[in-house]
Amino acid sequence: MQKDKQFILFFKDISIKDISLVGGKNASLGEMFNCLAQAKSQGFEYRIQIPNGFAVTAYSYRYFIKENKLDKKIKGILTNLDTHNLKDLAKRGEKVRKAILAAKIPVELEKEIIRAYKKLNKIYWRDIREKKLTTDLRYPNLDVAVRSSATAEDLPTASFAGQQESFLNVKGEKELLKAVKKCFASLFTDRAISYRQEKGFNHFKISLSVGVQKMIRSDKASSGVMFTIDTESGFRDVVLINAAYGLGENVVKGKVNPDQYFVFKPKLKKNFKPIIGKELGTKKKKLIYSGKGTKNVVVLKKDQQMFALKDEEILTLARWGMEIENYYKRPMDIEWAKDGIDKNLYIVQARPETVKTTESPNILKKYTLLRKSKILLEGESVGEKIGQGKVHIIKSAKKIKEFKKGEILVTRATDPDWEPIMRMASAIITELGGKTSHAAIVSRELGTPCVVGTSKATKVLKNNQTVTVSNAEGEVGRVYQGILPFKVKRINLAGFKKPKTKVMMNIGIPRQAFSQSFIPNDGVGLAREEFIIANFIKIHPLALINFKNLKDRKVKKQIEEITIAYKSKTQFFVDKLAQGIGRIAAAFYPKEVIVRTSDFKSNEYRALIGGEYFEPVEENPMLGWRGASRYYDKKYQAAFALECEAIKKARDEFGLDNIKVMIPFCRTPEEGKKVLSLMKKYGLVQGENGLEIYVMVEIPSNIILANDFAEIFDGFSIGTNDLTQLTLGVGRDSELISHIFDARNKAVKRLVAEVIKVAHKNKIKIGICGQAPSNYFDFAAFLVQCGIDSISLNPDTVLETSLKILKVEKQLRKQKKRGLRRG
Ligand code: PEP
Ligand code: MG
Repeated sequence: MQKDKQFILFFKDISIKDISLVGGKNASLGEMFNCLAQAKSQGFEYRIQIPNGFAVTAYSYRYFIKENKLDKKIKGILTNLDTHNLKDLAKRGEKVRKAILAAKIPVELEKEIIRAYKKLNKIYWRDIREKKLTTDLRYPNLDVAVRSSATAEDLPTASFAGQQESFLNVKGEKELLKAVKKCFASLFTDRAISYRQEKGFNHFKISLSVGVQKMIRSDKASSGVMFTIDTESGFRDVVLINAAYGLGENVVKGKVNPDQYFVFKPKLKKNFKPIIGKELGTKKKKLIYSGKGTKNVVVLKKDQQMFALKDEEILTLARWGMEIENYYKRPMDIEWAKDGIDKNLYIVQARPETVKTTESPNILKKYTLLRKSKILLEGESVGEKIGQGKVHIIKSAKKIKEFKKGEILVTRATDPDWEPIMRMASAIITELGGKTSHAAIVSRELGTPCVVGTSKATKVLKNNQTVTVSNAEGEVGRVYQGILPFKVKRINLAGFKKPKTKVMMNIGIPRQAFSQSFIPNDGVGLAREEFIIANFIKIHPLALINFKNLKDRKVKKQIEEITIAYKSKTQFFVDKLAQGIGRIAAAFYPKEVIVRTSDFKSNEYRALIGGEYFEPVEENPMLGWRGASRYYDKKYQAAFALECEAIKKARDEFGLDNIKVMIPFCRTPEEGKKVLSLMKKYGLVQGENGLEIYVMVEIPSNIILANDFAEIFDGFSIGTNDLTQLTLGVGRDSELISHIFDARNKAVKRLVAEVIKVAHKNKIKIGICGQAPSNYFDFAAFLVQCGIDSISLNPDTVLETSLKILKVEKQLRKQKKRGLRRG
C-alpha cells in the first residue's frame, strides 16, 4: 500500500522525509530509530537508545475528520476569529474540541491502532524475555506515551513545541484510543489556534499525527532536556543538560528547578571528561505513575541534595547529543529519559533548536542599564535584554484573560496555555523553572526578557508596580524598582579587521564567558580566580579544609548547605574552581586563557564564609598577606594546593590546555622560585604539556629586577593598578588623593616602557591586564607604540579600543616607511 495512505507506520518504516505523513516529532524519532540507534554498526561510535513505537498517521487524522464531517463544522466555528479577543477564542476553541471528542473513530482505523499496539506489545515483551529480564510468559498491557506530532511541528523556523497534548502511562486498548482522540482535539487548543493565527499558518493545512511509544520508566529515575548549544548565548561548543527526577514533563514545563550541566564538545570528542558546569537544582517534586495516569509527589530530601545524573551519564548524553547534532547538522533540542528498571538512558525526542540558529551571528546587541535602583528580586536570566512595565501577577491560566499588552507577567510557572499572553508581555518573571523551562524557551523565541527561578516573585511584587527587568548583568536576572533608563548598542561584527597587537579580555564571571567570547578577541589576558571563588564557591578554602575543627555552628551549617552534593568539602572547592576556570577556558578555546591564582587581600578573604577564623586583621592588607607570599606560607599552603589541583583538573581532565597560569604580587625572584617549586609539587610543572607560567608586573621590584624575573617565568603581564599605586605611593582605594592616581603619569609610563623592552630583550611575551588601557585610549596607544605584544581589556571597551589600536598601528607603519625612505 502507498505510504501516504496508511493509518499506521512503525518507527522502523519512518524517516525524516515523512514529516507530512507523521509530523515532525514522529519523523525525527523514526529517523533516529533507524539511523542512530543502529549507529554502531554503521561506523558511529555510540549507540543511541531510542524506545520503539509507531505513528497513527496524519492520514488517519484526516480520515477521522472526513468520516465524521468535522471539517465543515470546524471551519464554521472559526470563521472571523480575532485571537486577541481571548474570551471569544476560549469559547470557540472549546466548541471545536467538544465536536472532535464527541466523534467516533472509524472502525477500520480503530482496528489498525489496536493491531499496532498489540504488535508493539509483543515486540517489547519478546525483547525483554530474550534479555532474560522477565520470566513472565504473559503479555501485560504495555505502558505507552501518546504524543501529538503536528505535521508543521518542529520546523527549523517555528517551534510548535508543547503546543499539542501528550499523555503518559497510557495502558490498554480503550485508554489508547481515548488518548489518540484527545491528541486530535488538542490541535485546536486555544493556544494552538492563536499561535497558528499569529504565525500565519492555515488551520487546515496542518494535520496531526500521534506517536505511540513505549514509556521509559523515568518515574523511577530521572529525565530532562538537552541542548547541543548554550541556549542563552548561542555558544556552539557546549552541550547543556537539564535533569530532574521523575517523568520529563516537569522539566519541560518549568515546574521544577532542575540540575544543570555543561559539557565542552571539542574535548569530549577527544575523550576527555570536560564537564565544565554542574549546578545543583532544587528538584523538589517528581511526576510518577498513578493508576492510569500520573501524579506529582515530593522528592526525598536526600535525593534533592544529590545530582540526578552521574558524571558518566552526563558524558554519555552529551556524546549522544553531539551525534544527533552531527547527524542533523544543526543545533538540537533533545528530550532524554533514564529508565529506573533497566537503568539505561534513552532519547525520546529531538528537534532543531529554534532560537539562536535563526539569528544573524554578526549583530551584537548589547543592553546596558544606565542607572540602578533597589533590587526587588533576583533569579536566572534568560537572554540578555532589558524590559520594563507594570507588574501583573497571574496565578492561574484561568486568569490569563485579564492580562494586558505591555505588562510584566509575573507567575509561578508557565505552560503552553500561557503562550497567548507571553507574546503580549514586555517581560516575564517566574518563580520556578530553569533555563530549559517552558517560560525560558518561549521567551527566547519571542525575544522577551525573562527571569526564571526567582522563587518568590508573586509574593514580593505587587500588581501595577512599575519595574525594570534586567538580564544585562550576566546570568543573574534582576528586577529593579521603577522604570530605569537603558541603552541598546547594535554592533555589526561582519568584516571587522583585527589589529596586529593581540587584543585580549579580562573575564571575571565565568557565567558571562560564552556570550563574551563572540566579541572579536585573541583570548583572555586575565581571569581572576578571586572572582570565580567569590561567585562560585563563596567559602574560604581553609574553612573547607578544616571543616571538622570549625566551632561556629552557623558557619558549619552554611557550608554544609552549599557543599551538600559533594563527596568532600575540599572536592567541592576543587570541582567548583575547576568548573569556573573551565567555563572561561572553554569559551575561548583554543585561544590562550591566562588564569591568575588567587589575589584576595586578607580583608577580602575574611569576607568569605568562615574566613574570619583563618585570616589576620591587617592594618594595610593591600601591602600585606597577598599574592605569592601567601602560597608558600605554611598557613595557606594547603589552600594553594587546592588551587593548583583545580587548574590541573581543568587542564588534564577537561583537556583545556590553553590555560596558562599567572602569579600575582610576586615581590622578589626568590618568591617566584618558591612558588614554582610548590606548583611542581602539586602537579603543575612548567613546560609540561605546554604549561606556561606568567608573572604579574605590578610592583616596581618586578621591573627593577625584570631580567631576574624573566629567567624564572615564561611571560609578563603588567598590572597598572598596583603599579600606579606603588610607583606613586597612592593607595588604590584612597579617595583623598585619588586625583593623583593616574597610570599615565610619566613615572609609571617610564617603568612600563622599560619593562616591555627588557621582556623583548629576554625574548619573553609581555602583555598588560591592568585597567589603564580600558580607561584611556591614549594609554592603549602608548602601549602599542612601545611594541607591547598584547593588551587585555574589559569586554565592553574591546571594539572601540581595537579600532583605536588599528589606527595607531597604521600610523606606525607609515612612520616606519617614511623613516626607511629617509634612511
Ligand atoms: C593590576 O594590579 O593592575 C591588576 C590587574 O591586578 P588587580 O587589579 O587584580 O590587583
Ligand atoms: Mg594587581
